[in-house]
Formats: sequence, C-alpha cells, structure tokens
Amino acid sequence: MNEIQVLDKGFVRLVEHMGGDQGVVQAARVSYAGTTKGDEKDKKLIAYLLKHQHLTPFEHALWKFHVKCPIFVARQWFRHRFAAYNEVSFRYTQTKDDFYFPATWRAQDLKNKQGSVSSPQLDHAALSKVFKASVDQSFKAYEALIAAGVAREMARMALPVNLYTEFYWTVNARSLMNFLALRADGHAQLEIQAYAEALSKSFKETAPWTYEAFLANVWKGSNARLDAEKEKACAASPA
Ligand SMILES: Cc1cc2nc3c(=O)[nH]c(=O)nc-3n(C[C@H](O)[C@H](O)[C@H](O)COP(=O)(O)OP(=O)(O)OC[C@H]3O[C@@H](n4cnc5c(N)ncnc54)[C@H](O)[C@@H]3O)c2cc1C
Repeated sequence: MNEIQVLDKGFVRLVEHMGGDQGVVQAARVSYAGTTKGDEKDKKLIAYLLKHQHLTPFEHALWKFHVKCPIFVARQWFRHRFAAYNEVSFRYTQTKDDFYFPATWRAQDLKNKQGSVSSPQLDHAALSKVFKASVDQSFKAYEALIAAGVAREMARMALPVNLYTEFYWTVNARSLMNFLALRADGHAQLEIQAYAEALSKSFKETAPWTYEAFLANVWKGSNARLDAEKEKACAASPA
C-alpha cells in the first residue's frame, strides 16, 4: 500500500486507482471510436485536452484515498464537492487521544488576512506548552462526560479541531487537479498544503502524463516542489 506520512500523525494512503492516463485517452477517443495511438500521440492528446479545457475525459481516471488529517483540515477539504466522502463517526466510536501538535507556530500575516508567516520571534516551546495543556484539559472533559454516561455525540463537543479524523476520498482527475491547484498553492493553509503535496506524489506516480500536463497547463500556484516540476514539465510538454 502506498502510504505517505503527513504532519505529525496523519497520512494519505492510496487504496486503489482506476483508469490513469489511458482512462483519459480512451474516454477522449471514444468520440471517434478510437483507442490508443501510441505513447507520443496519447501524451500529446492529454496535454491538448487540458490546454483547451476539454475536461470530461479526466473524469474517467479515479483514485480512492484513505486520509487521516486534523478536523480543521478536513473542514477545508470537504468544501471540494466533486468527490465521494465517508468519514469515521464519533457518534459510533469513542475517540482516542489523537491530536495534531504543530512542530512550530506561525505568526499572523499582517498583509494577507488569512495567511501566516514563520516567526522565530515566537516562543515556540512556551506556546506548545500552553496549547498542550488546553488540549489535555479538553480531552479530560470529554472522558469525564463519557464516564458520566453522556452520549458520544454530545461529549465530542468538548473536543478541539486539532483532533484527527479519518475518511475515504474518491476523486476523479478533473476534481483532483482543481483541489491541487487551490490547496497545493502557497495561499492555502500550510497544513492542507502538506496533504495536497502528498496527493500530488500519488497523482504523479499513477498518471504521469496527466500530472505533467496539469503542471504545464493548469498549475499557476506557488509551491517550491511543484514550481520546479512545472519548469521541467513545460520543457518536456508536447503541447
Ligand atoms: C486559499 C483559500 C481560501 C478560502 N477561503 C474561504 C473562505 O474564507 N470562506 C469560504 O467559505 N470558503 C473558502 N474557501 C473555499 C472555496 O471557496 C471553495 O469552496 C473550495 O476551495 C472548493 O473549491 P471548488 O468549489 O472549486 O471545488 P468543488 O466543490 O470540488 O467544485 C469544483 C468545480 O465545480 C464547479 N462547481 C461546483 N459547484 C458549483 C455550483 N454550485 N455552481 C457552479 N459551479 C460549480 C466549479 O467550477 C468548481 O470550481 C477557500 C479556499 C481556498 C483555496
């Protein structure tokens, strides 16, 4: 199984995938009852389709991922409507003491209202101590409510949004590219960027031509690794 570790305890695991580059090619060529025309032409077709916004063939390549991420990341993730989601329920199960603790703290970005910047001035050790005490207190409250007989669906109100959750996410290439364009970009929160980066690695491995065409024709974000790969993709792009 292809599992990529993300943040302190999270992961993205590719459960299965279908179609890949050939799934896109096959769907595009059905218009004129054709199939593959060899690697060079097929790769060129994928780049052409993306460049000219013929996007429906990309709905025939699919990935099923098992994701473990903090709840505040999942909230951003679930805004991407074109995918299938099934998530663990804390009505059915009692949660473990399983929280995300950032390695460092970022300061508020004063120019970008929703952004953050790295800040050596912050007292990271002291802030982590304050945060850990708060999380421990919340988890104790949760356990006390459960012990007193409160339903799991109510006791969970005591839990903070850095609690890890897990879900299955089935997504097609069209929607995955939209996700990556928005969430691997430097404007997205750093934590979801880390997940988008992990997804991009699975995407690259399982649909390399589509990934390359995505970088060359769609990607306009800022992300050190994707930007470097885009340069290579543009040089190699047949479009
Ligand atoms: C940096 C950043 C900051 C954000 N800040 C906020 C915020 O402050 N508040 C907030 O509420 N959200 C915020 N969002 C979430 C954002 O508005 C989107 O909900 C999220 O990124 C999902 O994108 P999407 O709609 O393109 O994806 P999907 O839901 O997967 O949709 C894919 C595409 O399908 C089409 N589509 C989907 N639904 C419709 C529809 N109803 N009508 C027409 N076309 C449709 C669109 O072309 C869309 O791009 C932010 C996102 C980012 C990346």
